Amino acid sequence: MSGISKIYGLGDATTIALDDIEMSVDKGEFVAIMGPSGSGKSTLLNLIGLLDTPTHGSYMLNERPVANLGNNARARVRREQIGFIFQSFNLLSRMTVIDNVALPLMYRGVGHVERLERASTILRRLGLGEREYYLPNQLSGGQIQRVAIARALVNNPAIILADEPTGNLDTKTGLSILDTLKDLNEQGNTVIMVTHDPDLAKYAQRTIHVVDGQIKARHAPAAAKPRKKPAKKTSRKAKT
Ligand code: ADP
Ligand code: MG
Repeated sequence: MSGISKIYGLGDATTIALDDIEMSVDKGEFVAIMGPSGSGKSTLLNLIGLLDTPTHGSYMLNERPVANLGNNARARVRREQIGFIFQSFNLLSRMTVIDNVALPLMYRGVGHVERLERASTILRRLGLGEREYYLPNQLSGGQIQRVAIARALVNNPAIILADEPTGNLDTKTGLSILDTLKDLNEQGNTVIMVTHDPDLAKYAQRTIHVVDGQIKARHAPAAAKPRKKPAKKTSRKAKT
């Protein structure tokens, strides 16, 4: 992302939710986004996940400019590449666990048997094999969140975005969700997680701090003039 901003509202009632964001994430990274409430974390994650469009700026996803895609094109990229895990995930209460998890595959036109097979595989991987035919209200909070994760993952998305994924859970259950995300990352998925909990951010390889819609430098502000250095390796480090 380069020069990304998001402004809500019109006239006197505008809110600058994001202000000139520069960031990049490599494939296979596990990144935490932290910051105070209202600082723009969810807005940023929603833009990363193409749930929303920026007001200004450019965003390249897999070398493709995606900042100005129309709704349909954005929906297709989401379906093919991105899995979202939200804090409060609404499972459909009258559907069994396995049908809830299989639902995204229906929108992709996958046949019934294959849908159930793939849903079952991911549920077993998340330790929910015995709960496939339960209804959501028969599960604990931690199990519901794992079903939500299964549903986000059933498309096998390369990029997993999680917004306070453990927000409503007790510490122990929260840590088990983090272990799941860590496993997924170790299998090669890119994970970007919003959290306000430093203990959870430790699971990530890197933390981006957002304050008032801007990314806070991790170190002292970069020197205006680059210091002269033997120009051996010009590794252009990712700006955070
Ligand atoms: P965080 O997730 O860090 O708590 P958000 O990204 O939800 O922060 O919000 C950032 C700012 O943008 C806040 O001031 C919030 O009130 C505002 N905001 C977020 N979504 C909207 C919206 N749909 N309409 C107007 N303002 C919004
Ligand atoms: Mg938020």
